[in-house]
Amino acid sequence: MRQKDKGKNDQQQGNQGGKSNSDGSNKPRLDFNVYWVYGAILLIILASTFLFGGSGAKKVGWAKFESEMLATQEVDRLIIVNKQKVEIYIKRDKLSDSKYNDVSRHSIGSGINLGPHYYFEISSIDQFYANLKLAQDSYGDNYNKIHPDSENREDYSGAIGWLFMIGIMVFLWVFVMRRMGGGAGGGAGGIFNIGKSKATLFDANSKVNISFKDVAGLEEEKEEIIEIVEFLKHPDKFTKLGAKIPKGVLLIGPPGTGKTLLAKAVAGEAEVPFFSLSGSDFVEMFVGVGAARVRDLFNQAKAKAPCIIFIDEIDAIGRSRSKGQFSGANDERENTLNSLLSEMDGFSTNSGVIILAATNRPEILDFALLRPGRFDRQIAIDKPDLNGRTGIFKVHLKPLTVKKGLKAKELATQTPGFVGADIANVCNEAALIAARSNKKTIDMDDFQSAIDRVIGGLEKKTKLISKEEKEIVAYHEAGHAVAGWFLEHADPLVKVSIVPRGIAALGYAQYLPKEQYLYRTEKLLDEMCMSLGGRAAEDIIFGKISTGALSDLERITKMAYNMVTIYGMNEKVGNVSFYDPQQGEYSFTKPYSEATAQTIDVEVRKLIENAYDRVKTLLMDKKAHLEKVAQELLKKEVIFKDDLIRLIGKRPYGEPSAKEVKDLAKAAKKDSNGRDTKSKATKSKRGSTSGQNS
Ligand code: ADP
Ligand code: MG
Ligand code: ZN
Repeated sequence: MRQKDKGKNDQQQGNQGGKSNSDGSNKPRLDFNVYWVYGAILLIILASTFLFGGSGAKKVGWAKFESEMLATQEVDRLIIVNKQKVEIYIKRDKLSDSKYNDVSRHSIGSGINLGPHYYFEISSIDQFYANLKLAQDSYGDNYNKIHPDSENREDYSGAIGWLFMIGIMVFLWVFVMRRMGGGAGGGAGGIFNIGKSKATLFDANSKVNISFKDVAGLEEEKEEIIEIVEFLKHPDKFTKLGAKIPKGVLLIGPPGTGKTLLAKAVAGEAEVPFFSLSGSDFVEMFVGVGAARVRDLFNQAKAKAPCIIFIDEIDAIGRSRSKGQFSGANDERENTLNSLLSEMDGFSTNSGVIILAATNRPEILDFALLRPGRFDRQIAIDKPDLNGRTGIFKVHLKPLTVKKGLKAKELATQTPGFVGADIANVCNEAALIAARSNKKTIDMDDFQSAIDRVIGGLEKKTKLISKEEKEIVAYHEAGHAVAGWFLEHADPLVKVSIVPRGIAALGYAQYLPKEQYLYRTEKLLDEMCMSLGGRAAEDIIFGKISTGALSDLERITKMAYNMVTIYGMNEKVGNVSFYDPQQGEYSFTKPYSEATAQTIDVEVRKLIENAYDRVKTLLMDKKAHLEKVAQELLKKEVIFKDDLIRLIGKRPYGEPSAKEVKDLAKAAKKDSNGRDTKSKATKSKRGSTSGQNS
């Protein structure tokens, strides 16, 4: 699915590129093809064997020459070349003899070989003369003696060969350059354009006809983006108040959730120039090209400010540096990234260039790229929930002729876990299926088969959950939520969802952690209990447990080990910390004895067991609540804090009031002066995502 989707994107982009390229330059362009390279290599090999292989004379030994050619008077003449080699010419009338069969004719063509027919090498010319004299003297008096000629020849064959090779190299070079230069939008001298950015520019002349209306759901995300566009249109409205315009906005989310679509909508609505390119457009086989392209892009953008630069799939260049094992292997990408970083620092916040970027792998991005001042605003786009899916279905149903009475909502309920791209796919498939059976309108049956089809195609790659699984997930998440509700030190809950996201998480409960740097033991213990709540709930309700608790277990195991070995929170092990900031992943030695290691293991186990017992007792007690929350989840997929209050009453330990939250934010703002409130809000949003439980 993911693959297919990408293909579609590429195609679209290709079309756009084609449009901007067809500006008249009709110069003939050879189609580049791998076979050309093979052909050239073959030619080189052929040419070199032909040129270096000598003139076709065969090598003979002295003995054979003496007995079979010299003694029998068949040698016409001998030529000593450069005092190193003797060439032997056989008399023409003797060539027809069968023993000369293999030299009498040219290997290529059919003419008679005029010689030299044989050769041998000599080490000393005097020695050769002596040998020859000795041999010819021994043949008797009526032997017609042969007197060798001597010649000095310049050896051109090697030089010609080299010239030939260089010629082919140059040809290939020019060829490759031509091709790459051509990609950059034509123009003369392709090689000189290689450092030019490949961005496609959309402005008043070339409008994109995608608007925010085409992006369904994602209301909050759209709002944030619209605000940024506002910044560009009326900067004084914000700068008058002292607000700074953000430099970069990063769209993060799984594939197919509409990141590229959202950016395109910005291009359509912004009414400012919009540069669009993909991270891989910076990548080229030559060192330094990526960096040059980044600089060129920013120069172009500055000239057109206010404007927006959109870099899709930024992970192609934004991957974190120095993670590669071989230094040097990634130098080119690092150069490109460094130049992007410094360009982003280089222009001031008010210059009116905003960088929009999208990625579905934020975890591999370089930290330097994510720090405030660069991409200081991050917009997370999750898989759509029921309402989102309904909206997306509505958008994609619009161009179709569907049967009256077909409800988008009904389709949305049947497609949990689908992203926008899947939904677009379902709608298209349904139309195709209906067309195949010559229907006038597309009805529910067609959609049903389309959904089945898409699910079938999806199953291998992303998890789609069956009804039973959904039930398990609902109780699991309800377990987290209810446990957290009744644990004093647990973070307040924001929402619980059973919309699957990613491969690992089938659902999640999201909390709003306080911004704090010190944690008490009780707080950590309560967190552990809450994390185990999912598994405990499964255990209580179904009497069985599932693999769904993997990430929970991972988390608490790490937490428990940290408590014992790093924070000195265990009585038996005591107030020691084995924390070693230098410790890499590859350290094999432990800074403690075997006995301590055993104590640590035992204590960690005890810690986790106690937490599990505690949360299980708690949930047994609140089993009715658990049922209620799980049933509501199955119905709605996503529930919020208010729903929980309605279902199981107020949280006994009190929430931080609205005022408290505000004070907290204010305090946090004080120590990060220079950052605007908005980025703070985004940050705390990010924080809450990290505080989730699946
Ligand atoms: P990605 O997040 O991987 O960049 P795209 O933006 O390329 O995903 O989305 C692919 C397709 O999925 C879009 O062309 C659109 O047809 C559909 N799509 C995704 N999200 C939405 C949405 N929120 N509303 C409408 N269509 C959507
Ligand atoms: Mg995309
Ligand atoms: Zn869980």
